[in-house]
Amino acid sequence: MSEKFMKITYQGPPPATKLNAYLRMPSQTYAVLRREIDMYLFQERQLPKAEIKTFWIDADNDEIEIINQIDYDIFLSKYRSSMHLQIAAIKRRVAPKPVSAPSNFIIHDKITCDICGLCPLVGFRYKCIQCRNFDLCQACEAAHKHPEHMTIRMPTNHRRYKVLPKPSGNGWEIVSNS
Ligand SMILES: [Zn+2]
Ligand SMILES: [Zn+2]
Repeated sequence: MSEKFMKITYQGPPPATKLNAYLRMPSQTYAVLRREIDMYLFQERQLPKAEIKTFWIDADNDEIEIINQIDYDIFLSKYRSSMHLQIAAIKRRVAPKPVSAPSNFIIHDKITCDICGLCPLVGFRYKCIQCRNFDLCQACEAAHKHPEHMTIRMPTNHRRYKVLPKPSGNGWEIVSNS
């Protein structure tokens, strides 16, 4: 029995390019083949780990996905002479982060929420642009605890800011105290 080769074409996640290779004597079992592909792409070739799907292109130019042994048997019997397996990275949907999560770790030293008294103010810091010195924490801002005035979200750092009317009289500007 002559040695068999299976051509694989891997399309990695963008911006990665296509990779073509031959596997020697590919496994007859799909589960083992998947492990061989994993080993080859992500360990030997050191490509960034990705979830993959396997498929082949039939005579009608259609994509036939292989998800189990039966699919793989069909592929092997149809592609007896020159096996060509397509592998593509699956685009994983990134779970949206909870809105308040990253800002929970921002600590505004020496800043107090003028509504609830939170000090230091943790999370997003909002500043009233109409009151002279009025800060709100993100919970109070979200709960509309200072509804009569406009507030702005302040940049993240530990310095104090003042909001002053622009010299032109047109709008407001943020001035650092330090
Ligand atoms: Zn508050
Ligand atoms: Zn105000």
